Amino acid sequence: MRLIPQAAPQLRFARFRREVDEAIARVLEGSTYILGDAVARFEQAFAHYSGRAYCVGVASGTDALALALRALGIGPGQEVIVPALTFVGSAQAVLHCGAAPRLVDVDATTRCIDPDAVEAAIGHKTAAIIPVHLFGHPCDMPRLAAIAERHNLALLEDCAQSHGATLAGRPLGTFGQAGAYSFYPTKNLGCLGDGGAIVTNDEMLAIRLRRLRNYGFAEGERVSGGIGFNSRLDEIQAAVLEALLPRLDAANQERRAAAASYRMCLRNDPDVTLPPDDPGSVYHQFAVEHRERERFAAFLRDAGLNSAVHYTPGLHRHPFFGGAQTGAFPVTDRLASRLLSLPIQPELAPDAVRRLEDAMCHTAIAHG
Ligand SMILES: *Cc1c(COP(=O)(O)O)cnc(C)c1O
Repeated sequence: MRLIPQAAPQLRFARFRREVDEAIARVLEGSTYILGDAVARFEQAFAHYSGRAYCVGVASGTDALALALRALGIGPGQEVIVPALTFVGSAQAVLHCGAAPRLVDVDATTRCIDPDAVEAAIGHKTAAIIPVHLFGHPCDMPRLAAIAERHNLALLEDCAQSHGATLAGRPLGTFGQAGAYSFYPTKNLGCLGDGGAIVTNDEMLAIRLRRLRNYGFAEGERVSGGIGFNSRLDEIQAAVLEALLPRLDAANQERRAAAASYRMCLRNDPDVTLPPDDPGSVYHQFAVEHRERERFAAFLRDAGLNSAVHYTPGLHRHPFFGGAQTGAFPVTDRLASRLLSLPIQPELAPDAVRRLEDAMCHTAIAHG
């Protein structure tokens, strides 16, 4: 039996091959490959989809965070609060703008940044908070927004795993000054390479971001008005994203349906703690907590499913980040040693769910 992979972005491109081919062909037939019509069209579509006035396409999700921090005026001598349980890009981006990441623990239920830990970590150097909507589940944004406002801090949402997710019906990425997205191939909305974007309602922030991504040039000029980078979303990626964006909501629904089936299947297993159940989650990952992760991964493998570990160890245990951190990270440590992600990508999940159902059923019979 062939193992079902944990992720397989090539299957999404195969599924929408015609749309993707046509999008790429239109770019090839044009004459502009950088900052042309496809980028402008995708930016407009994604701003509209996200419920924000502006979208600025950049080269990656990490750059989206780093450039947004810079555009928010954050730099050397300042600290940015980041959860310890996240992909390293969330914290590396803080260093790119010259500031220092201040890691805090996550909440045991949401697995997202713990608002109490955020409040405890705020000091005179704190300039911003980066909540990460981990695995597509919303952070407690009302509380984080209140904390940010009370302490006059910028709030930058890391939406790299939460394309299309909502909290009480409101799109994520609309609670802070800006939302930063990644379009890495395996994300809920992904392209054929690297890509990212920032959404915001702040026109000045959008203007600063457009300059930062392109050598400090003002629109239509080629004179540097300040520091700038080469961090542009390219035309091919933008065209692919424009073709896939109309499929995003349906794909997220497929992820939710698979998550509901996994829940049914695993609800009586005393060793499994299911992910939080929020109707607005988009299940970038379906990660369960298991006290014997290796044993569960082996059981899944025997059933024909591959799984993956996100994220081990917590950032406070990365030698590079750990040194400067104070405080304890008991929840991050526990989750980092117990979380296991099952296949949830729409092109894989239905088969994976069936195999798990079969295996659970046989196990139940075997146990009488
Ligand atoms: C993927 C990801 C990033 C980085 O995005 P890239 O496009 O790979 O640079 C940042 N934060 C989180 C939470 C991510 O999952």
